[in-house]
Amino acid sequence: MPWNDKFECMPVEELKKFQLQKLKETIAWVSEKIPFYKNKFREMRITAEDIKSLEDVAKLPFTVKTDLRDNYPFGLCAVPLEEVVRVHASSGTTGKPITGPYTQEDLDQWIECMARTLYAAGIRKEDVVQNAYGHGLFTGGLGFHQGAAALGCTVVPTGAGMTERQITIMQDFKSDVLFATPSYALTIAERAEEMKVDIRKLPLRVGVFGAEPWTEGMRQEIEERMGIKAQEAFGLTELCGPGVAYDAADQNGLYINEDHFLAEVVDPQTLEPLPEGEKGELIFTALQRRAMPMIRYRTKDITRLWREPGHEGRTFIRMDKIYGRSDDMLIISGVNVFPSQIEALLLEIEEVEPQYQLVVSKKGYLDHLSVRVEGKPEIYEAGEDRRHEIEGKIAGHIKGNMGIGVNVELVDAKAIARSEGKAVRVIDERPKQER
Ligand code: ADP
Repeated sequence: MPWNDKFECMPVEELKKFQLQKLKETIAWVSEKIPFYKNKFREMRITAEDIKSLEDVAKLPFTVKTDLRDNYPFGLCAVPLEEVVRVHASSGTTGKPITGPYTQEDLDQWIECMARTLYAAGIRKEDVVQNAYGHGLFTGGLGFHQGAAALGCTVVPTGAGMTERQITIMQDFKSDVLFATPSYALTIAERAEEMKVDIRKLPLRVGVFGAEPWTEGMRQEIEERMGIKAQEAFGLTELCGPGVAYDAADQNGLYINEDHFLAEVVDPQTLEPLPEGEKGELIFTALQRRAMPMIRYRTKDITRLWREPGHEGRTFIRMDKIYGRSDDMLIISGVNVFPSQIEALLLEIEEVEPQYQLVVSKKGYLDHLSVRVEGKPEIYEAGEDRRHEIEGKIAGHIKGNMGIGVNVELVDAKAIARSEGKAVRVIDERPKQER
């Protein structure tokens, strides 16, 4: 049974009615409280009364990351700062970070969404939970912390990094659960192997991983190396942080917390809504948030939505694992390539480690892709010829599956920096104006 069956298993018609009501309330709230939306709606002559069905959400304007930057830090905040009880911020790799303010009500909603996520992963009150997400402005650390606390778990806030200590704590405290980015989970698994600690023999039973794209192949790799179930959480600072969507024991898509977030998928070029089942850019409208409710926020994440009767009676719409961000899509020999597609193919090659980096450069007018990947130790022992043979095998596998020619370099063991948070998979060496 889910954590909150009233909402997680609500009959779809009732759920949609609930969403419509909350959508109208949110439109009324933001048009009254946030000048940015008030002005936009006025220009477009839209009021809450124009929203007669959920499909009418398509009449509303999009919100994009630069709108948050332009209004940094609190220009999109609907309440005075004294009603704000917490502010998170996203890493903001380019320019200023973006902020996520919360009222107490927003925090309570976030905790509820995270409790659903963790309960669906099979985590219970009795569990010792090791939280290796970065704690601080990043929403991962505190988001997972509060969710596990709501379940009544014993939370160990290790934070990210100090990998050997993570492993010692995992042994000494007999952690049942690990929270981390998938790439950091892999770093922990690898370090444990080097320390001759077999995580598979420890009590660790389940991990909840997210905050970056990872493939099914990567999930299997982590499950095998740690002897655990690797569950998934998805979210973004603009909406609350993790807890927007989560998978259940059947690991078949991620359920979107639909009573809190209205999801759409649009064509990333035309921005026209796409029907269920079609792949495109994921858009969210917050339905219950107070401090900073986003209207049609463009996530840049590419996925597909579908609704089927779910695990343990869940009725929420599901999304596929994120294929990638439209920002990270490369065009190689005229073919659209997401880093995750290359990851999936690399994980099918048994001679390599799941440690890779993609280097994009310019050759004449064309983009050129180099795949840097580490081999298993025995490959290096076998000598130069074997190394070239594997490089050829990988290039052939990628050509055969995706039709693109890439340069493959089997780099030295440990040449690729290990991740403690979000892994850097793509290095873009193209001149800035040609990206
Ligand atoms: P930043 O934008 O600085 O990275 P966030 O932590 O808010 O800060 O990042 C949110 C983004 O992280 C999402 O839009 C998505 O691209 C990615 N993300 C989060 N969870 C997942 C997941 N489970 N799978 C794939 N990508 C994810």
